[in-house]
Amino acid sequence: MKRGTIMDDKYVFDCPHSSGCGGCSYNNIAYEKQLEKKEGRIRGLFAQLPGDKSFKPDRIVAAACPYHYRNKVHGVLGYRRSKIICGLYSEDSHKLVNVTDCLIEDEVASAVIAGVAELAGPFKYTIFDEDKGRGFLRHVLVRVAHSRGEKKLLVVIVTALKEFPRKNDFVKALTAKFPMIESIVWNYNPRRTSMVLSDNNTVIYGPGYIVDDMLGLRFAISAGSFYQVNHEGAEKMYSLAREFAGLTGKERVLDAYCGTGTIGMLMCDRAESVTGVELNESAVRDAVFNKKLNKIKNYRVLCADATKYITDLRGKDAFDVVIMDPPRAGSTPAFIDAVVRSKVRKVVYISCNPETLVRDLRLLIKGGFVLKKAVPIDMFPGTSHVEVCCLLEQLKSC
Ligand code: SAH
Repeated sequence: MKRGTIMDDKYVFDCPHSSGCGGCSYNNIAYEKQLEKKEGRIRGLFAQLPGDKSFKPDRIVAAACPYHYRNKVHGVLGYRRSKIICGLYSEDSHKLVNVTDCLIEDEVASAVIAGVAELAGPFKYTIFDEDKGRGFLRHVLVRVAHSRGEKKLLVVIVTALKEFPRKNDFVKALTAKFPMIESIVWNYNPRRTSMVLSDNNTVIYGPGYIVDDMLGLRFAISAGSFYQVNHEGAEKMYSLAREFAGLTGKERVLDAYCGTGTIGMLMCDRAESVTGVELNESAVRDAVFNKKLNKIKNYRVLCADATKYITDLRGKDAFDVVIMDPPRAGSTPAFIDAVVRSKVRKVVYISCNPETLVRDLRLLIKGGFVLKKAVPIDMFPGTSHVEVCCLLEQLKSC
């Protein structure tokens, strides 16, 4: 298995699949240069903000090691010269690239995907042909958790047929080869769409989920759950969000766009109460499960549109601190307007899209909030993506 090259203490991104796979837009750019590019982009965007012109975002928080961080790895199965291969579709075509030594995927997860491809032959499994719509095995998805100091894996086998021949023998063979597999889920997805998973999951080994230890709490990851793909990066980002929130135990916190509740639950020991708001029903179910898993009493989660929820409060004095971690599209003017009109004193804004972040920050600043801190975090080495965690405080009196 390939590891990236480290030369003169510098990380080189020398992935052999650069021209085919398209997963890493910063491939063949040394890691230090990648960080410089991300920092420059953030600095440029923040310079356009109104308010204190001397404000500068912090230096970017680099990854301890930029390789093999991805804890969610997807492999497509296919044939090359009648041999079964696994890989990814290239960015601009439907051509399957045989990815054997990805620089950013978790190495054990990649090995499991290759292991499924190897077993397919002896088990006489056919591979699904996208064009003809025929065949059995389609995709493999592997998710990795750090649990009690050990790696644990959840493997999702996606098939296009309803029958899984010799299922139990296959499970035995795969788990014998990879004992760190905690659970295997069979996902039946006959649809011809680009969605990897359907809703049709059958647990065929273990409990159907894995549990990740994160800053003293435990979070379940199931086949379709949202979970940050870089554990180390997420730990840094969540710690920073906690520090920025500066809670004393008395605050009522809104965890908007809460996903499976990670950020909010990590604040519960320092808050009076935390309310999570999330649109996706299955993420809400995961959050309820995580709340029970961690025996947290002062967290509640609601399935709602964040904007509708906060505007329905009609300026009621419901929260002291807002944590918001919206999807790439950012938040909405109505959500921000409701925050500005409320008695909220502090906003911690976490974003994976600097453009929509700056668009939304402009509105918060116009509404009287002052930008105190902005810290870019490199959660996605090898790619152009960057996460930013910001602290804003309301200076206008209510
Ligand atoms: N804070 C979470 C991740 C949030 S990702 C974590 O660190 O794990 C953004 C989340 O916003 C997703 O779970 C998505 O389902 C949710 N979302 C998207 N649009 C929304 C809306 N209009 N209202 C509430 N939640 C929304």
